[in-house]
Amino acid sequence: MSRSDVIPDVIPDVIPVCAFSDNYIWTLRDSGCAAVVDPGDARPVLDYLRREKLELVAILNTHHHADHVGGNAELLRHFKVPVFGPHDPRIAEVTRRMADGERITLPHFGLAFEVLEIPGHTRSHIAFYGAGMLFCGDTLFAAGCGRLFEGTPQQMHESLNRLARLPDATRVYCGHEYTLSNIRFAKAADPDNPVLRELESRAQQLRDRDLPTLPSDIGQEKATNPFLRCDDPGVIASASRHAGRQLTSPVSVLAAIREWKNSF
Ligand SMILES: [Zn+2]
Repeated sequence: MSRSDVIPDVIPDVIPVCAFSDNYIWTLRDSGCAAVVDPGDARPVLDYLRREKLELVAILNTHHHADHVGGNAELLRHFKVPVFGPHDPRIAEVTRRMADGERITLPHFGLAFEVLEIPGHTRSHIAFYGAGMLFCGDTLFAAGCGRLFEGTPQQMHESLNRLARLPDATRVYCGHEYTLSNIRFAKAADPDNPVLRELESRAQQLRDRDLPTLPSDIGQEKATNPFLRCDDPGVIASASRHAGRQLTSPVSVLAAIREWKNSF
């Protein structure tokens, strides 16, 4: 068992602070302190901290896109805290550049996270994994995955498979509320999957009450996410139908359904 699997005595709450139209700024908090993941906008974070009388102790960044890091500088004007992020100069505010397998500690919460390099959406995308939680930015979504802006289908396939090997109970905190639209596509790519229909009704009920559909978990993703099911006969068949040729490798299936989804 690695240290990141050790569950601390008290697991902090993880609160979604909403930003823009569909971003979640995941906020770990206890009664006095908070750490935020991917603060694309400082304003909702500052409002939340003030309202809850919390002090910010750390910022975690998964990748360089503005809707994930745009609030860093303003938050740093209010709180002098470490910023953990990838080796990528495009995030100027990062103070602790992390490589695969390195650990960050949040001593205040008694928590440690292992850094996983998961390129695909961007070339330097990382995730933070520990205490049964995964903060995976825009790589893995509930029932979907990020667009391939900088990476290849091969890289995304390897990154997603790596996440799929985490324990089924791992809670998956994604960067966006995309679940319902992802499920609509997943039903086309994986039409015979009954678990998707159950997930859709659960997700719809939550969204009807304006509640997040997240976190997901790895077990749910392996059962419902077509991008983690590129070796499933049903997904292979519909991807091949859409591509107009028989696809034989999981990477070619992932490439085909990623492209299909872009125009879905
Ligand atoms: Zn992104």
